[in-house]
Amino acid sequence: MEPTTFVLFGATGDLAKRKIYPALYNLFLDGKLPPSFALIGLGRRELSDETFRGNVERSIRTFSRRKVQDDAAAVERFLDAFRYCVLDVGRKDDYRKLLDMIESREQELRLTPNRLFYLSVGPEFFEPIAANIQESGLGSADGWKRLVIEKPFGRDLPSARDLNRKLNQAFAEHEIFRIDHYLGKPMVQKLEALPRSHPAFQALWTGRRIASVQITAAETVGVEERAGYYDHSGAIRDMFQNHMLQLLMMLAAHLPAGQADEKAGVRKKKAVQALRPLTKEEAKAHVVRGQYAAGTVQGTPVVGYTAEPGIDAESANDTFIAARLLLDDPFWRGVPFYIRTGKRMSGKSTRIVVEFERLPGQPLPTAEDEGAAHDLLVVDIGPEEGITLRSKANDPRRSAASEPIRIDLQANPDDVPEAYENLIGDALRGDATFFAHWDEVEWSWAWVQPILEAFADNLVPLRLYAAGSEGPAESDALLAENGHRWWSDS
Ligand code: NAD
Repeated sequence: MEPTTFVLFGATGDLAKRKIYPALYNLFLDGKLPPSFALIGLGRRELSDETFRGNVERSIRTFSRRKVQDDAAAVERFLDAFRYCVLDVGRKDDYRKLLDMIESREQELRLTPNRLFYLSVGPEFFEPIAANIQESGLGSADGWKRLVIEKPFGRDLPSARDLNRKLNQAFAEHEIFRIDHYLGKPMVQKLEALPRSHPAFQALWTGRRIASVQITAAETVGVEERAGYYDHSGAIRDMFQNHMLQLLMMLAAHLPAGQADEKAGVRKKKAVQALRPLTKEEAKAHVVRGQYAAGTVQGTPVVGYTAEPGIDAESANDTFIAARLLLDDPFWRGVPFYIRTGKRMSGKSTRIVVEFERLPGQPLPTAEDEGAAHDLLVVDIGPEEGITLRSKANDPRRSAASEPIRIDLQANPDDVPEAYENLIGDALRGDATFFAHWDEVEWSWAWVQPILEAFADNLVPLRLYAAGSEGPAESDALLAENGHRWWSDS
């Protein structure tokens, strides 16, 4: 791996502490950091290098996936790469100081000036930081440069385009690595190859046999401490436009035989481009907008959304969204994709369910079946990982009865790398496969834009649901229109 200077904006922040340092430490343990590696942490606070390293050590001891052993020498070697520099994002002088520091580290360690700028700061800083990197000459050394940022990438289609135009003045598209941490999850990374991964899937994976696809990301938590951000964002911006549509793309970006060499990014783009657009007026028929009311989540009574601290008592913000999407693509024609995501739901689970059509002669479900006679491929993405095939088989002892069968195709592996580990490792290697490319971001916003407008104009009614439930009844009704139902049993 090429020598790299990792320049971390927001080095004193929560994301750095909980995710970035632990990810770097685990990459270090796996020998996946470049052999020549320097990290410069940036923040507004004055900190000595020693204090900074002490903070990093505390972070890895608290949050690392693999426990920090008492191998003091290894921890020392890891921390040895870390330096700290005070920088206020708006102060040009600070960037000159940073450039001096980077250059002196590069000389000291004889590093090729490859620089990765990781922006672990609020989105309002993306643009000024990129511009200052450009102006100060930080990005014009004789090596590569990369920019790593995390959503939100804009708050609607025009603002996303505007942000991207500005970032492109300092970084070309191939230099920008947009993190969508769902794409770093190991099970998500397997999705696109799933249909080719086993002859059983190859046989199943024809559009004709797939009745529907449903993607759920349910949380039990409410708005937590993010009221200021969330009340202006809602489930549609916070989850749907990015994570949920990325999951859809990963699953739908399957390939007809013979095109196996087409890049995943190209196929994902084709999938999102194939989404049948909805107009603002059509949104109501295909989208359910919900907000949690008071209720009981896993035995604990909780307040409704508008009674949460920091939330406007009149807020009509969405904490739940369900939608039916169709793809105008020869393979997926006629197969509805159902997406739902919400806060304060009954359980925490991110799951994709592929429902297969009933075969001729297959027993019809009885009342006791509660619909469980269907053939399902269930991909659990989190908190547990796993792939199961569910169906019913005739019980040889009772000729008329059939019993549910469940085939575990992949047990939950214990030692799963964290999303940030995978993604930071990829960014260091320059592999952009599992990042959100601009085309995907732009097409996702384009699909969502009429829905944002429909919400703003109140064309889609806000439905309340009890905290701890499966969302509003209208979400069930949306699927029932096509003879489908949500599969949420475990
Ligand atoms: P935070 O408030 O804990 O940290 C922000 C960092 O930015 C701090 O290091 C602070 O010193 C720095 N900063 C703020 N103003 C600055 C300025 N003028 N000059 C220089 N530095 C400045 O925030 P966070 O939770 O670490 O989140 C950072 C970004 O990552 C946000 O955009 C957030 O949306 C995103 N994010 C966070 C999480 C998370 O789990 N915390 C998850 C996903 C995305």
